[in-house]
Amino acid sequence: MNGRVVVVGSANVDLVVDVARPPRAGETVLGGDLRRNPGGKGANQAVAAALAGGADTTFIGALGDDDSADLLLLSLECAGVRTDLVGRVGAPTGTALITVSPDGENAITVAPGANAYLTLSAPQVERIAEADVVLAQLEIPLGVVRAAASARRAGAVMALNAAPARDLPEPIWEAIDLLIVNEHEAADYALTSGPAEILASKLLGRVPAVVVTLGGDGCVVAERNREPVHVPGIPVNAVDTTGAGDTFCGVLAAALARGLPLSEAARLACAAGALAVTRPGAQDAVPTAAEVAEFAR
Ligand code: ADP
Repeated sequence: MNGRVVVVGSANVDLVVDVARPPRAGETVLGGDLRRNPGGKGANQAVAAALAGGADTTFIGALGDDDSADLLLLSLECAGVRTDLVGRVGAPTGTALITVSPDGENAITVAPGANAYLTLSAPQVERIAEADVVLAQLEIPLGVVRAAASARRAGAVMALNAAPARDLPEPIWEAIDLLIVNEHEAADYALTSGPAEILASKLLGRVPAVVVTLGGDGCVVAERNREPVHVPGIPVNAVDTTGAGDTFCGVLAAALARGLPLSEAARLACAAGALAVTRPGAQDAVPTAAEVAEFAR
């Protein structure tokens, strides 16, 4: 059975330039050739859920009426994502301006554009109500995250990749079935620092299940009334970690939609994340479901 995933989130075109060092205020630096890549957490996660997770995946987001929108739709459709409910608004498609230094450090400015105007239409709400897993992030208005959670059917999983970290109102905490965060976000939300198991157990006071991703060290899976599980990372030659977290989230959602237990879904998500860091780009680095299955064995 291929489960149904609806990803509600952002779509951005990433404009990427390699630089010797990022410009200081008032300064101009010359960089390498411009790269124009499909990105945005929501679109990246939808591509991962469909391509690497094999789920029947719908992306719900807002695009402008411009070339960037065409680039994003093409990438989503090539990955097998349903785009029939993507909204079009009278603002430019979201754009991220990214300079990458030789040490791999990124400096990023995001112009949210259309993402800031996302609202849910009746057909979008209906599609959400058909999903097994609804996956959202925080690059869209919080009201939309809340509306998406309210629209899910009983028994469906509301997963929130709470990135970038923002203050969340209580109704959103109450609507989350699964929180997915990296170590830094976990510390932000737990209002403390410490090992991932401690952060996760603190967050279990607010949500029933938490996954904390740990880069090359894999992830920690924590559920109420169970011992936390550390899923080890898979050693790889990392060339570009952009989008690893998004690949992880998309594959996790797809595996849960298929009915896998959370720790087993996390094992597949770790394999997919590890494969993604061996390739440059975000959506371009997402592996296929066959590659993930082979690598996770
Ligand atoms: P984010 O990009 O959101 O900060 P992480 O860096 O924790 O997320 O990466 C997400 C997942 O991708 C990890 O849980 C792991 O499975 C995989 N991953 C990331 N970096 C590496 C790495 N260097 N080697 C192997 N797997 C990695």
